[in-house]
Amino acid sequence: MAGRSQKGLNMAWLSESIGHDSRAVNSRNGVICWPALPPGGHGNGGWPWVQGLPPVLYNSSREGEVLSIIFVFLDGVGLGPPGEGNPFSDGGMPALSRLLGGPLVSGREVDEPGLLLRPLDACLGVPGLPQSASGQVALFTGVNAAGLLGRHLPAYPNRPLIELIEERCILKSAGEMQLRATFANAYTPFYFEWVAKGLIRHSATTLCVLAAGLPFRSLDDLERGEAVFWDITHQQLATRYRRPVNVPLIEPEVAGKRLARLGGIHDLVLFESFLPDLFGHRPDPSGVGRTLEILDRFLISLLAAVEDETTVLVTSDHGNLEDLTVRTHTRNPVPLLVVGPEAEAFRHVDAITGVTPAILSALEP
Ligand SMILES: [Zn+2]
Repeated sequence: MAGRSQKGLNMAWLSESIGHDSRAVNSRNGVICWPALPPGGHGNGGWPWVQGLPPVLYNSSREGEVLSIIFVFLDGVGLGPPGEGNPFSDGGMPALSRLLGGPLVSGREVDEPGLLLRPLDACLGVPGLPQSASGQVALFTGVNAAGLLGRHLPAYPNRPLIELIEERCILKSAGEMQLRATFANAYTPFYFEWVAKGLIRHSATTLCVLAAGLPFRSLDDLERGEAVFWDITHQQLATRYRRPVNVPLIEPEVAGKRLARLGGIHDLVLFESFLPDLFGHRPDPSGVGRTLEILDRFLISLLAAVEDETTVLVTSDHGNLEDLTVRTHTRNPVPLLVVGPEAEAFRHVDAITGVTPAILSALEP
């Protein structure tokens, strides 16, 4: 289909920037077959990094089930006007900017087969600054949570929003559709201890996992490469918590490939990173620069590593990092970036409430 062909064209340059290790994502369990050419592929010469490689393994149980979506939720990324206070506008994400034909700022829109970038409203008709709990519940349930409460709710969902998640969050709905869904994030053992002691509360994504009855990924999964930590590189994991955590640091590209691999064995993979929100509230220049570099390398390696049938969707709950002149969230729209064969299915989504319904509709058998 046309979308696949365009994705191949768009992605061809990625191999140059990330190297040949991308072929690792084509390893699946099961029957031996040859690596796939790029979608629609003979015309542009095939994936440069798989030409001449030996056969890889293919899981025959997935034959006939071609579609998967990896949903990357980045907390606190808006589309703001270019300028000095917007770190996205001055070359902060070079690889992504190259894919999009320019930086991730307001006014940038792409609508090509296999590649979509459009702004989404995150304010949802409610005055004030959009916040995490209501924004994330809107994102993961399709319901205007802020409208329901009459205000934007920060941090953790309250009882009405927890009930909404328990009733209709994306992971639960996917399970009811017999889809294999997973949350890619790894949890520390002390996270659950702290919740039990009442020191912290569950965020929207964790409540989604609980509502769906899915298992949590652990640090053991992380060490085996079968999970991704919210900070992507384990830097925050190693330094942020009062308990020592002995997990090696990894490059963003490694995390991108690990997430891509989960997309190969699930229908829906959700991943959350709140790095951008963290540094939007605490905008030290080196932390902001490093955050954009990590996100750029992570996302581009993910896009290069996913299989032809996988669509990657990236979006946010509210703006923050795109305006370093303030330490608060913003009322800017958030980006909806969709790369892959299902990109067209998201062309008419115009608010964060439209994301989950469009994902579930795209995944409908
Ligand atoms: Zn925040």
